[in-house]
Amino acid sequence: MNTQLAQSLNRSSAKHDSDLTTPSAPSLRSAQPLLGLRPLGLAPRALLCEEGNALIRLDRIHKVYHMGDVEVHALRGVSLEIHRGEFVAIMGPSGSGKSTMMNIIGCLDHPTKGHYFLEGSDVSQVDKAGLADIRNKSIGFVFQSFNLVPRTSALENIELPLIYAGIPAGERMRRARAALGEVGLADRERSMPNQLSGGQQQRVALARALVNNPSLILADEPTGSLDTRTSVEVMEIFQRLNRNRNLTVIVVTHEPDIAHYANRIIQFRDGRIRRDFSVENGKDAGEVLMELPRETEDEEESGGPAGSKEAGAKE
Ligand code: ADP
Ligand code: MG
Repeated sequence: MNTQLAQSLNRSSAKHDSDLTTPSAPSLRSAQPLLGLRPLGLAPRALLCEEGNALIRLDRIHKVYHMGDVEVHALRGVSLEIHRGEFVAIMGPSGSGKSTMMNIIGCLDHPTKGHYFLEGSDVSQVDKAGLADIRNKSIGFVFQSFNLVPRTSALENIELPLIYAGIPAGERMRRARAALGEVGLADRERSMPNQLSGGQQQRVALARALVNNPSLILADEPTGSLDTRTSVEVMEIFQRLNRNRNLTVIVVTHEPDIAHYANRIIQFRDGRIRRDFSVENGKDAGEVLMELPRETEDEEESGGPAGSKEAGAKE
């Protein structure tokens, strides 16, 4: 995935740099505040723009996959707006279109029909190289399976997006260290992924998603492989980033408990939005953590291998 990303970034910088409003030269990019927010690196002149202040606006999005002769209608006219600083949980049964929508919002895939406006600019028609450019500048991804590069230290994993962005070594290390500190793992920078617990690996993945100062974090079932306490720890980081940095966070989850750390829940069924509502009396992950026993974390801190959790844990 990383080689592919690097290749697409190389192509995109050759093709698109002159269009970009956000400077992409390393010296200018590195002057940006660490993990601070900045405008999306879109190219308004080259794109169709609209008025309005939604960070994300989906307008009657359809997605049809073709599997030989069979058509799978994964999204059937999804319209929605998400504003900067929202914390949204996406729920719904397996196969209801959650990941398909995340892929479109994350500029990993095009809709078959409809328009996707990201910060007012229509990205539905942007080519692959342009999408790669938007992803690298503006969006951080977190997956259920962590997707860390094996035999590569925590710090180096976090540095990867900065290498692709052409950031010089000293600046890279400074930013990667700060991101690792942000997720509470400053003392594990030399650890390899297989020396970290599942929760720690997910925190490294979260630091990697943050290191490029994205405006938007997309997390597809980020706690799906974690036990209860570790899941809440990950949600505490999302909640803190959302509150303190106004970072927009979208999390797909099967678990109602997890969804209630968000401010808004969108439920999918059969490729459509079935419910979309604000969370009243949402949960505070920091407070929940204080109530939960710490045994699992003690095991993690002992540096045991991933999966060495107490009996009955999900991992
Ligand atoms: P969810 O994330 O809610 O489980 P998905 O968005 O992954 O659902 O899938 C929605 C529907 O689209 C499912 O029927 C799934 O089988 C189908 N689908 C998803 N990705 C592809 C693909 N790459 N090719 C063909 N069908 C797909
Ligand atoms: Mg999915």
